[in-house]
Amino acid sequence: MKKEQLLNIAQEFGSPVYVYDAYKIESQYKRLTAAFSNVKNLKINYAAKALSNISVLKFLKNLGSGLDTVSIQEVQLGLVAGFKAQNIIFTPNGVSLEEIEEVAELGVQINIDNLSILEQFGSKHPDIPVCIRINPHVMAGGNTNISVGHIDSKFGISIHQIPHLLRIVENTNMHINGIHMHTGSDILDIDVFLYASEILFETAKNFRNLKFIDFGSGFKVPYKKGDIETNIEELGKKLSSRFNEFCGNYGKELTLAFEPGKFLVSEAGIFLAKVNVVKQTTSTVFAQVDSGFNHLIRPMLYGSQHEIANISNPDGRERFYSVVGYICETDTFANNRRISEINEGDILTFKNAGAYCFTMASNYNSRYRPAEVLWYNNEAHLIRKRETFNDLIKNQEVIEFDNKKVVN
Ligand SMILES: *Cc1c(COP(=O)(O)O)cnc(C)c1O
Repeated sequence: MKKEQLLNIAQEFGSPVYVYDAYKIESQYKRLTAAFSNVKNLKINYAAKALSNISVLKFLKNLGSGLDTVSIQEVQLGLVAGFKAQNIIFTPNGVSLEEIEEVAELGVQINIDNLSILEQFGSKHPDIPVCIRINPHVMAGGNTNISVGHIDSKFGISIHQIPHLLRIVENTNMHINGIHMHTGSDILDIDVFLYASEILFETAKNFRNLKFIDFGSGFKVPYKKGDIETNIEELGKKLSSRFNEFCGNYGKELTLAFEPGKFLVSEAGIFLAKVNVVKQTTSTVFAQVDSGFNHLIRPMLYGSQHEIANISNPDGRERFYSVVGYICETDTFANNRRISEINEGDILTFKNAGAYCFTMASNYNSRYRPAEVLWYNNEAHLIRKRETFNDLIKNQEVIEFDNKKVVN
Protein backbone atom coordinates (compact mmCIF):
# COMPACT_ATOMS: atom_id res chain seq x y z
CA MET A 1 0.00 0.00 0.00
CA LYS A 2 1.10 3.56 -0.70
CA LYS A 3 1.91 5.95 2.11
CA GLU A 4 -0.75 8.42 0.95
CA GLN A 5 -3.39 5.74 1.30
CA LEU A 6 -2.16 4.88 4.79
CA LEU A 7 -2.07 8.54 5.83
CA ASN A 8 -5.64 8.95 4.60
CA ILE A 9 -6.71 5.95 6.66
CA ALA A 10 -5.11 7.41 9.79
CA GLN A 11 -6.87 10.68 9.07
CA GLU A 12 -10.25 9.13 8.41
CA PHE A 13 -10.35 6.46 11.12
CA GLY A 14 -7.97 7.94 13.67
CA SER A 15 -5.01 6.31 15.34
CA PRO A 16 -3.94 3.80 16.37
CA VAL A 17 -5.39 1.59 13.66
CA TYR A 18 -4.65 -1.78 12.09
CA VAL A 19 -4.77 -1.98 8.31
CA TYR A 20 -4.87 -5.28 6.41
CA ASP A 21 -4.20 -5.55 2.70
CA ALA A 22 -6.58 -8.15 1.25
CA TYR A 23 -4.49 -8.39 -1.91
CA LYS A 24 -1.46 -9.59 0.11
CA ILE A 25 -3.55 -12.21 1.93
CA GLU A 26 -4.78 -13.46 -1.42
CA SER A 27 -1.32 -13.60 -2.98
CA GLN A 28 0.07 -15.55 -0.01
CA TYR A 29 -2.85 -17.98 -0.19
CA LYS A 30 -2.28 -18.50 -3.91
CA ARG A 31 1.45 -18.90 -3.42
CA LEU A 32 0.86 -21.70 -0.95
CA THR A 33 -1.69 -23.55 -3.08
CA ALA A 34 0.51 -23.17 -6.17
CA ALA A 35 3.46 -24.71 -4.31
CA PHE A 36 1.37 -27.83 -3.68
CA SER A 37 -0.41 -27.98 -7.02
CA ASN A 38 0.90 -31.51 -7.59
CA VAL A 39 -1.17 -32.80 -4.70
CA LYS A 40 -4.65 -33.84 -5.76
CA ASN A 41 -6.44 -33.02 -2.52
CA LEU A 42 -5.00 -30.00 -0.76
CA LYS A 43 -6.73 -28.31 2.17
CA ILE A 44 -5.58 -25.03 3.68
CA ASN A 45 -7.17 -24.35 7.06
CA TYR A 46 -6.39 -20.77 8.06
CA ALA A 47 -5.45 -20.54 11.76
CA ALA A 48 -8.04 -18.12 13.12
CA LYS A 49 -6.10 -17.16 16.21
CA ALA A 50 -3.61 -15.15 14.14
CA LEU A 51 -6.29 -12.64 13.11
CA SER A 52 -9.91 -13.44 13.79
CA ASN A 53 -11.83 -10.47 12.44
CA ILE A 54 -14.98 -11.86 10.79
CA SER A 55 -14.42 -9.97 7.52
CA VAL A 56 -10.91 -11.43 7.26
CA LEU A 57 -12.28 -14.91 7.95
CA LYS A 58 -14.91 -14.39 5.30
CA PHE A 59 -12.33 -13.20 2.79
CA LEU A 60 -10.26 -16.33 3.38
CA LYS A 61 -13.35 -18.52 3.09
CA ASN A 62 -14.05 -16.96 -0.31
CA LEU A 63 -10.52 -17.83 -1.41
CA GLY A 64 -11.37 -21.47 -0.67
CA SER A 65 -9.75 -21.80 2.72
CA GLY A 66 -11.00 -23.89 5.63
CA LEU A 67 -10.53 -22.80 9.23
CA ASP A 68 -8.31 -24.00 12.06
CA THR A 69 -9.65 -23.14 15.50
CA VAL A 70 -8.47 -23.52 19.10
CA SER A 71 -11.59 -22.54 21.06
CA ILE A 72 -15.32 -22.97 20.67
CA GLN A 73 -15.54 -19.20 20.33
CA GLU A 74 -13.29 -19.30 17.26
CA VAL A 75 -15.52 -22.05 15.87
CA GLN A 76 -18.53 -19.78 16.39
CA LEU A 77 -16.76 -16.87 14.69
CA GLY A 78 -16.03 -19.19 11.78
CA LEU A 79 -19.68 -20.19 11.51
CA VAL A 80 -20.72 -16.52 11.61
CA ALA A 81 -18.23 -15.85 8.80
CA GLY A 82 -19.99 -18.52 6.76
CA PHE A 83 -17.64 -21.50 7.02
CA LYS A 84 -19.43 -24.83 6.88
CA ALA A 85 -18.83 -26.93 9.99
CA GLN A 86 -17.13 -29.62 7.92
CA ASN A 87 -14.57 -27.05 6.76
CA ILE A 88 -13.53 -26.25 10.32
CA ILE A 89 -10.99 -28.20 12.34
CA PHE A 90 -10.74 -27.85 16.11
CA THR A 91 -7.16 -28.26 17.39
CA PRO A 92 -7.27 -27.17 21.01
CA ASN A 93 -4.86 -27.89 23.81
CA GLY A 94 -5.93 -28.61 27.35
CA VAL A 95 -9.62 -27.79 26.90
CA SER A 96 -12.36 -29.70 28.67
CA LEU A 97 -14.11 -32.80 27.35
CA GLU A 98 -17.37 -30.84 27.49
CA GLU A 99 -16.05 -28.17 25.10
CA ILE A 100 -14.78 -30.82 22.68
CA GLU A 101 -18.17 -32.56 22.77
CA GLU A 102 -19.97 -29.29 22.13
CA VAL A 103 -17.78 -28.58 19.11
CA ALA A 104 -18.16 -32.14 17.80
CA GLU A 105 -21.93 -31.72 18.05
CA LEU A 106 -21.68 -28.84 15.60
CA GLY A 107 -20.17 -31.17 13.01
CA VAL A 108 -16.66 -29.76 13.25
CA GLN A 109 -13.62 -32.04 12.80
CA ILE A 110 -12.14 -32.79 16.22
CA ASN A 111 -8.43 -33.09 16.81
CA ILE A 112 -7.39 -34.61 20.15
CA ASP A 113 -3.96 -34.07 21.61
CA ASN A 114 -3.86 -36.17 24.78
CA LEU A 115 -4.59 -39.76 25.71
CA SER A 116 -6.85 -38.98 28.66
CA ILE A 117 -9.41 -37.09 26.55
CA LEU A 118 -8.96 -39.53 23.67
CA GLU A 119 -9.96 -42.42 25.91
CA GLN A 120 -12.93 -40.56 27.39
CA PHE A 121 -14.13 -39.24 24.03
CA GLY A 122 -13.65 -42.58 22.28
CA SER A 123 -15.55 -44.40 25.02
CA LYS A 124 -18.51 -42.07 24.82
CA HIS A 125 -18.59 -41.34 21.08
CA PRO A 126 -16.95 -44.18 19.17
CA ASP A 127 -18.81 -43.15 16.00
CA ILE A 128 -17.47 -39.61 15.76
CA PRO A 129 -14.29 -39.60 13.66
CA VAL A 130 -11.31 -38.03 15.39
CA CYS A 131 -7.95 -36.72 14.25
CA ILE A 132 -4.99 -37.21 16.57
CA ARG A 133 -2.25 -34.70 17.19
CA ILE A 134 1.18 -36.27 17.34
CA ASN A 135 4.25 -34.71 18.85
CA PRO A 136 7.16 -35.94 16.73
CA HIS A 137 9.70 -34.37 19.11
CA VAL A 138 11.57 -32.72 16.33
CA MET A 139 13.00 -29.25 16.38
CA ALA A 140 15.73 -27.30 14.71
CA GLY A 141 18.85 -27.52 16.83
CA GLY A 142 21.16 -24.56 16.28
CA ASN A 143 22.77 -24.85 12.90
CA THR A 144 23.14 -28.62 13.07
CA ASN A 145 20.16 -30.12 11.37
CA ILE A 146 18.05 -32.31 13.59
CA SER A 147 17.76 -32.80 17.29
CA VAL A 148 15.23 -34.57 19.41
CA GLY A 149 13.71 -32.09 21.74
CA HIS A 150 10.59 -30.73 23.27
CA ILE A 151 10.11 -33.89 25.26
CA ASP A 152 8.39 -31.69 27.85
CA SER A 153 6.22 -29.78 25.38
CA LYS A 154 2.57 -29.69 26.41
CA PHE A 155 1.40 -30.13 22.82
CA GLY A 156 0.42 -33.38 21.18
CA ILE A 157 0.63 -37.06 21.93
CA SER A 158 4.23 -38.22 22.08
CA ILE A 159 5.30 -40.66 19.39
CA HIS A 160 6.61 -42.80 22.23
CA GLN A 161 3.00 -43.25 23.38
CA ILE A 162 1.79 -44.74 20.09
CA PRO A 163 1.41 -48.24 21.60
CA HIS A 164 -0.88 -46.85 24.30
CA LEU A 165 -2.75 -44.78 21.72
CA LEU A 166 -3.35 -47.86 19.56
CA ARG A 167 -4.62 -49.76 22.58
CA ILE A 168 -7.16 -47.00 23.33
CA VAL A 169 -8.35 -46.95 19.73
CA GLU A 170 -8.77 -50.72 19.75
CA ASN A 171 -10.48 -50.86 23.14
CA THR A 172 -12.95 -48.09 22.35
CA ASN A 173 -13.42 -49.05 18.70
CA MET A 174 -13.17 -45.39 17.80
CA HIS A 175 -12.52 -44.09 14.31
CA ILE A 176 -9.32 -42.18 13.52
CA ASN A 177 -9.64 -40.22 10.27
CA GLY A 178 -6.66 -37.88 10.47
CA ILE A 179 -3.12 -37.52 11.75
CA HIS A 180 -1.83 -34.11 12.68
CA MET A 181 1.28 -32.34 13.86
CA HIS A 182 2.02 -28.71 14.55
CA THR A 183 5.57 -28.16 15.58
CA GLY A 184 5.20 -24.45 16.25
CA SER A 185 7.66 -21.92 15.05
CA ASP A 186 10.68 -24.09 15.71
CA ILE A 187 11.05 -25.39 12.21
CA LEU A 188 12.93 -23.18 9.82
CA ASP A 189 14.68 -25.79 7.88
CA ILE A 190 12.86 -27.75 5.18
CA ASP A 191 14.83 -30.90 5.86
CA VAL A 192 13.76 -30.78 9.47
CA PHE A 193 10.15 -30.37 8.38
CA LEU A 194 10.48 -33.33 6.03
CA TYR A 195 12.07 -35.39 8.78
CA ALA A 196 9.10 -34.70 11.05
CA SER A 197 6.79 -35.57 8.16
CA GLU A 198 8.40 -39.01 7.91
CA ILE A 199 7.46 -39.62 11.53
CA LEU A 200 3.91 -38.64 10.68
CA PHE A 201 3.85 -41.03 7.70
CA GLU A 202 5.20 -43.79 9.89
CA THR A 203 2.43 -43.14 12.43
CA ALA A 204 -0.19 -42.98 9.69
CA LYS A 205 0.55 -46.55 8.61
CA ASN A 206 -1.09 -47.74 11.84
CA PHE A 207 -4.50 -46.52 10.71
CA ARG A 208 -6.45 -47.95 7.80
CA ASN A 209 -9.24 -45.40 7.43
CA LEU A 210 -7.47 -42.08 7.25
CA LYS A 211 -8.87 -39.23 5.19
CA PHE A 212 -6.16 -36.65 5.72
CA ILE A 213 -2.72 -35.89 7.07
CA ASP A 214 -2.32 -32.44 8.55
CA PHE A 215 1.17 -30.98 8.63
CA GLY A 216 0.26 -27.98 10.78
CA SER A 217 2.23 -24.83 10.22
CA GLY A 218 5.26 -23.04 11.57
CA PHE A 219 6.10 -21.36 8.28
CA LYS A 220 8.42 -18.43 8.76
CA VAL A 221 7.89 -15.05 7.19
CA PRO A 222 10.56 -12.34 7.15
CA TYR A 223 10.21 -9.64 9.81
CA LYS A 224 13.40 -7.72 9.21
CA LYS A 225 15.99 -7.51 6.47
CA GLY A 226 18.07 -10.65 6.28
CA ASP A 227 15.48 -12.85 8.01
CA ILE A 228 15.13 -16.37 6.71
CA GLU A 229 11.81 -17.24 5.19
CA THR A 230 10.45 -20.75 4.68
CA ASN A 231 11.00 -21.64 1.05
CA ILE A 232 7.43 -22.71 0.37
CA GLU A 233 8.10 -23.56 -3.26
CA GLU A 234 10.89 -25.96 -2.38
CA LEU A 235 8.90 -27.46 0.50
CA GLY A 236 5.94 -27.87 -1.87
CA LYS A 237 8.01 -29.73 -4.41
CA LYS A 238 9.61 -32.09 -1.93
CA LEU A 239 6.69 -32.77 0.37
CA SER A 240 4.20 -33.17 -2.50
CA SER A 241 6.19 -35.89 -4.16
CA ARG A 242 6.78 -37.66 -0.86
CA PHE A 243 3.09 -37.34 0.01
CA ASN A 244 1.98 -38.74 -3.34
CA GLU A 245 4.38 -41.62 -2.92
CA PHE A 246 2.96 -42.32 0.54
CA CYS A 247 -0.61 -42.30 -0.79
CA GLY A 248 0.43 -44.79 -3.47
CA ASN A 249 1.72 -47.18 -0.83
CA TYR A 250 -1.22 -46.52 1.47
CA GLY A 251 -3.58 -47.40 -1.37
CA LYS A 252 -5.75 -44.32 -1.10
CA GLU A 253 -5.68 -40.67 -2.16
CA LEU A 254 -5.52 -38.74 1.11
CA THR A 255 -5.90 -35.01 1.67
CA LEU A 256 -2.80 -33.01 2.54
CA ALA A 257 -3.75 -30.34 5.03
CA PHE A 258 -1.96 -27.27 6.40
CA GLU A 259 -3.06 -24.68 8.93
CA PRO A 260 -1.01 -21.53 8.47
CA GLY A 261 -1.73 -18.32 10.33
CA LYS A 262 1.31 -16.10 10.13
CA PHE A 263 2.15 -17.04 6.55
CA LEU A 264 -1.23 -15.87 5.28
CA VAL A 265 -1.78 -12.66 7.24
CA SER A 266 1.40 -11.38 8.92
CA GLU A 267 2.77 -9.33 6.05
CA ALA A 268 -0.69 -8.09 5.06
CA GLY A 269 -0.96 -6.11 8.28
CA ILE A 270 0.33 -2.62 9.04
CA PHE A 271 -0.15 -0.89 12.37
CA LEU A 272 -0.40 2.90 12.34
CA ALA A 273 0.30 4.95 15.44
CA LYS A 274 0.77 8.66 15.99
CA VAL A 275 3.74 10.23 17.75
CA ASN A 276 2.55 12.11 20.85
CA VAL A 277 5.90 13.22 22.21
CA VAL A 278 9.50 13.40 21.05
CA LYS A 279 11.57 13.27 24.20
CA GLN A 280 15.28 13.92 24.25
CA THR A 281 17.03 12.34 27.26
CA THR A 282 20.69 12.16 28.20
CA SER A 283 21.07 8.83 26.40
CA THR A 284 18.59 8.65 23.53
CA VAL A 285 15.69 10.22 21.67
CA PHE A 286 12.36 8.68 22.49
CA ALA A 287 9.47 8.78 20.07
CA GLN A 288 6.37 8.08 22.15
CA VAL A 289 3.37 6.85 20.21
CA ASP A 290 -0.31 6.67 21.13
CA SER A 291 -0.08 2.95 21.77
CA GLY A 292 1.80 0.35 23.77
CA PHE A 293 1.79 -3.35 24.53
CA ASN A 294 -1.93 -3.07 25.04
CA HIS A 295 -2.20 -2.89 21.23
CA LEU A 296 0.94 -4.60 19.94
CA ILE A 297 2.67 -6.86 22.42
CA ARG A 298 4.88 -8.99 20.19
CA PRO A 299 8.04 -6.86 20.50
CA MET A 300 7.85 -7.04 24.30
CA LEU A 301 6.59 -10.64 24.53
CA TYR A 302 8.72 -12.31 21.90
CA GLY A 303 11.36 -9.71 21.10
CA SER A 304 10.00 -9.64 17.57
CA GLN A 305 11.18 -6.85 15.31
CA HIS A 306 8.56 -4.95 13.41
CA GLU A 307 10.03 -2.56 10.87
CA ILE A 308 9.09 1.03 11.65
CA ALA A 309 8.87 3.89 9.17
CA ASN A 310 7.79 7.50 9.41
CA ILE A 311 5.31 7.97 6.57
CA SER A 312 4.69 11.60 7.50
CA ASN A 313 8.29 12.50 6.69
CA PRO A 314 9.63 9.67 4.52
CA ASP A 315 12.46 11.70 2.99
CA GLY A 316 13.71 13.27 6.21
CA ARG A 317 17.21 12.88 7.54
CA GLU A 318 17.55 9.56 9.38
CA ARG A 319 18.20 9.58 13.11
CA PHE A 320 18.36 6.92 15.80
CA TYR A 321 15.23 6.57 17.91
CA SER A 322 13.83 4.49 20.69
CA VAL A 323 10.20 3.99 19.82
CA VAL A 324 8.09 3.49 22.93
CA GLY A 325 4.45 3.65 23.94
CA TYR A 326 2.29 5.63 26.32
CA ILE A 327 1.59 2.81 28.79
CA CYS A 328 2.77 3.13 32.40
CA GLU A 329 5.10 0.20 31.98
CA THR A 330 8.16 -0.43 29.87
CA ASP A 331 6.74 -0.83 26.40
CA THR A 332 9.59 -0.54 23.96
CA PHE A 333 8.75 -1.24 20.35
CA ALA A 334 12.27 -0.65 19.12
CA ASN A 335 15.68 0.52 20.32
CA ASN A 336 18.24 2.47 18.29
CA ARG A 337 16.16 2.26 15.16
CA ARG A 338 17.14 4.42 12.17
CA ILE A 339 14.01 6.30 11.16
CA SER A 340 13.62 9.44 9.10
CA GLU A 341 13.31 12.47 11.36
CA ILE A 342 10.27 12.30 13.61
CA ASN A 343 8.13 15.25 14.62
CA GLU A 344 5.26 15.23 17.06
CA GLY A 345 2.05 14.32 15.24
CA ASP A 346 3.79 12.11 12.66
CA ILE A 347 2.32 8.74 11.74
CA LEU A 348 4.60 5.72 12.15
CA THR A 349 3.95 2.38 10.45
CA PHE A 350 4.79 -0.98 12.01
CA LYS A 351 5.11 -3.82 9.54
CA ASN A 352 4.11 -7.49 9.89
CA ALA A 353 1.18 -6.48 12.04
CA GLY A 354 -1.34 -8.93 10.63
CA ALA A 355 -0.69 -11.99 12.78
CA TYR A 356 -0.94 -12.15 16.57
CA CYS A 357 -1.24 -8.40 16.94
CA PHE A 358 -4.85 -7.28 17.22
CA THR A 359 -5.85 -10.71 18.58
CA MET A 360 -3.46 -10.19 21.50
CA ALA A 361 -4.62 -6.63 22.24
CA SER A 362 -6.01 -5.74 25.67
CA ASN A 363 -7.54 -2.84 27.58
CA TYR A 364 -4.57 -2.31 29.89
CA ASN A 365 -4.45 1.27 31.24
CA SER A 366 -8.16 1.37 30.36
CA ARG A 367 -7.36 2.20 26.75
CA TYR A 368 -9.59 1.20 23.87
CA ARG A 369 -8.54 -1.50 21.45
CA PRO A 370 -7.78 -0.04 18.02
CA ALA A 371 -9.95 0.06 14.94
CA GLU A 372 -9.32 -2.39 12.08
CA VAL A 373 -9.48 -1.53 8.40
CA LEU A 374 -9.42 -3.87 5.40
CA TRP A 375 -7.91 -2.49 2.21
CA TYR A 376 -9.92 -4.22 -0.51
CA ASN A 377 -10.58 -3.22 -4.13
CA ASN A 378 -8.57 -0.04 -3.66
CA GLU A 379 -10.81 1.11 -0.86
CA ALA A 380 -10.53 1.28 2.90
CA HIS A 381 -13.30 -0.62 4.70
CA LEU A 382 -13.75 -0.21 8.42
CA ILE A 383 -14.12 -3.78 9.71
CA ARG A 384 -14.01 -3.02 13.43
CA LYS A 385 -14.74 0.25 15.16
CA ARG A 386 -12.46 1.54 17.84
CA GLU A 387 -13.85 0.69 21.26
CA THR A 388 -15.67 3.25 23.32
CA PHE A 389 -15.97 3.96 27.02
CA ASN A 390 -19.07 1.80 27.18
CA ASP A 391 -16.99 -1.25 26.13
CA LEU A 392 -14.87 -0.78 29.24
CA ILE A 393 -17.79 -0.78 31.66
CA LYS A 394 -20.49 -2.87 29.99
CA ASN A 395 -19.85 -6.08 31.98
CA GLN A 396 -19.23 -4.44 35.31
CA GLU A 397 -21.72 -4.52 38.17
CA VAL A 398 -21.22 -1.53 40.44
CA ILE A 399 -22.25 -2.39 43.98
CA GLU A 400 -23.35 -0.09 46.78
CA PHE A 401 -21.31 0.35 49.98
CA ASP A 402 -22.45 1.31 53.43
CA ASN A 403 -20.30 4.35 54.22
CA LYS A 404 -20.71 4.04 57.98
CA LYS A 405 -19.57 0.47 58.21
CA VAL A 406 -15.86 -0.26 58.40
CA VAL A 407 -14.64 -3.59 57.13
CA ASN A 408 -12.10 -5.27 59.38
C1 LIG B 1 -1.19 -21.34 16.14
C2 LIG B 1 -1.42 -22.56 15.39
C3 LIG B 1 -1.21 -22.59 14.01
C4 LIG B 1 -0.71 -21.41 13.21
O1 LIG B 1 0.65 -21.17 13.38
P1 LIG B 1 1.40 -20.04 12.53
O2 LIG B 1 2.79 -20.02 13.07
O3 LIG B 1 0.69 -18.75 12.74
O4 LIG B 1 1.34 -20.44 11.11
C5 LIG B 1 -1.48 -23.76 13.36
N1 LIG B 1 -1.92 -24.86 14.02
C6 LIG B 1 -2.13 -24.87 15.36
C7 LIG B 1 -2.64 -26.08 16.02
C8 LIG B 1 -1.88 -23.72 16.08
O5 LIG B 1 -2.08 -23.73 17.40
